[in-house]
Amino acid sequence: MSVYSLPDLPYDYAALEPHINGQILELHHDKHHAAYVKGANDTLDQLAEAREKGNFGTLVGLEKTLAFNVSGHLLHTLYWQNMSPDGGGRPDGDLAEAITEHFSSFEAFHGQLTAATTGVQGSGWGVLVYEPTARKLLVEQVYDHHGNVAQGSLPLLAFDAWEHAYYLQYRNVRPDFVKAMWEVVNWPDVAARYAAVAT
Ligand code: MN
Repeated sequence: MSVYSLPDLPYDYAALEPHINGQILELHHDKHHAAYVKGANDTLDQLAEAREKGNFGTLVGLEKTLAFNVSGHLLHTLYWQNMSPDGGGRPDGDLAEAITEHFSSFEAFHGQLTAATTGVQGSGWGVLVYEPTARKLLVEQVYDHHGNVAQGSLPLLAFDAWEHAYYLQYRNVRPDFVKAMWEVVNWPDVAARYAAVAT
């Protein structure tokens, strides 16, 4: 039985146009995200087999593959929910207050998340996270899906900076894609995630 499964997109492929075109969303969800789900399940099967046989000769590689695929699945699941055809603008309420408290202003937060996403070297993400030890909001620049991450931090808002997220529409101009991302942010979703984890 598969542990991980591909969630449906919460909107049609073309729902985020003109900001993100339907062809990107279809490939991104149906091919890329699906591959992470399959990769996670396949790796779990291989780990079960390794345990059964007591043969851990390939364990280091399997652990890396597990972290990559589970994190890819988790971030993409978040990413679809983080976007909405009715998105954009600014947050309000507790989330807006927390952003001001931890980043000094919405503009400063906007600048940091934009720079984190735009400046990823290679493939990665810019992510707003809640760090539960200091009860603090942070922006992380994530490499691949799982590198450069503070342990235990909980992602609230993720901007995908992999070329597959934008290249068909924005070519090499990642900054224009990041600008478009801000137009589709589903702030009520981000606020609900913050409310669920903030203590
Ligand atoms: Mn992606």
